[in-house]
Amino acid sequence: MVGLAGLIVGVAGFLAGAGPLSFSGRKSTALEQGVGAAKALGSGLPSFDGERAFRHLAAQTALGPRPTGSEASWNTGEFIIAELRNAGWSAEQQEFIFKGVRGRNIIGRQRSRAGGALPDHDLILLGAHYDTRPGADRDVDSTRRSDWIDGANDGASGVSVLLELARVLEKDQVNRDIWLLFLDAEDRGQLSGWPFSVGARHLAARLAVDPDRVVIVDMVGDVAQNIYFERLSNQAVSQELWAIASQLGYGDSFIPEARHTIIDDHIPFLERNIPAVDIIDFDYPYWHTVEDTLDKVTPESLERVGRTLEVWLEKDQ
Ligand SMILES: [Zn+2]
Repeated sequence: MVGLAGLIVGVAGFLAGAGPLSFSGRKSTALEQGVGAAKALGSGLPSFDGERAFRHLAAQTALGPRPTGSEASWNTGEFIIAELRNAGWSAEQQEFIFKGVRGRNIIGRQRSRAGGALPDHDLILLGAHYDTRPGADRDVDSTRRSDWIDGANDGASGVSVLLELARVLEKDQVNRDIWLLFLDAEDRGQLSGWPFSVGARHLAARLAVDPDRVVIVDMVGDVAQNIYFERLSNQAVSQELWAIASQLGYGDSFIPEARHTIIDDHIPFLERNIPAVDIIDFDYPYWHTVEDTLDKVTPESLERVGRTLEVWLEKDQ
């Protein structure tokens, strides 16, 4: 974890006119490379804090498993709404009923821009599902496969990144309209006759706007982080994001090779011809098991993903 003290040292070195080249006498750290990359990209320093994101993650797992329709799920939604409003965003709620179960998407928008999309500006939607799977159907212990899971990585991690982005995105540096989508009912697919991405599909079908890009973040907190291109995702946008990660020194985590094909919340947007990307680390041994718990995720992984998105959103168009 790169702490605040390290960040200040890095900034001071840069502002003193040392510049990235002065780091050439030794192996530069990822942070120093990141500082240089952020400057080169025309933005301020990335300020996404993995520790703060991690607290948002732990606040969710503390509520227990959060399947769609459960009391804990509703409370998770209330937590998300409160955090959005704290950060100066509005929170619109979109409720739906599917197979008799009440679900709710939450849409965060920067309050200063709530009057509508800025003309001639890109609209970017960032999404994450906040429900957790009501079944550990991949657990090695067959007696636990109907247990509900904590979803520390599969659920809470993506939400935590979006909530920390709500805090750090600097409005004067973002020449885009950004909506944060907290999607319900992603993860009951293939259980009791449900498909995946019920909430995302509901939202995508009712969009009154035409977003330029959609980026979904899911399972991004793994201690051993390996994020490959997802094969169904828009490849041009994927390459933009992975290039920024590389410039920030995160090349070991963001590997620019295709590996998995994933059904996730990007699919309903792709089906509407919207360029969409799924940032997902699918090499996670605890996926859909009762072991998807807080000890398997780490602030550093959240920070790499958050800072990559922050720089991407704040860079010049
Ligand atoms: Zn899942």
